Amino acid sequence: MIQLTSATAIETAINKARTVKPRVHVNAFGSYTVTNKQTGATYTVECVKRDGRRFASCTCRAGELGKACYHVAAAVAAHIQLAADKQAAH
Ligand SMILES: [Zn+2]
Repeated sequence: MIQLTSATAIETAINKARTVKPRVHVNAFGSYTVTNKQTGATYTVECVKRDGRRFASCTCRAGELGKACYHVAAAVAAHIQLAADKQAAH
């Protein structure tokens, strides 16, 4: 599990996501499949909120070690957008 504290904490991962531009597929709100279009590798990213804190997990090696990877950064960007859309709908 990776705790998402601030954007700066995952800035390196965000920059990598901007370079790699992985495809993010929304499985459900909070569950995403991230595909590296170059290698075809897919990873599952889950975003959860617990006690007001946000956490994410990724099935890649870095994610399993609790490091913020670019899959998490890409999924979190999609997650935030989705959450904003949800709020706008109410
Ligand atoms: Zn990952």
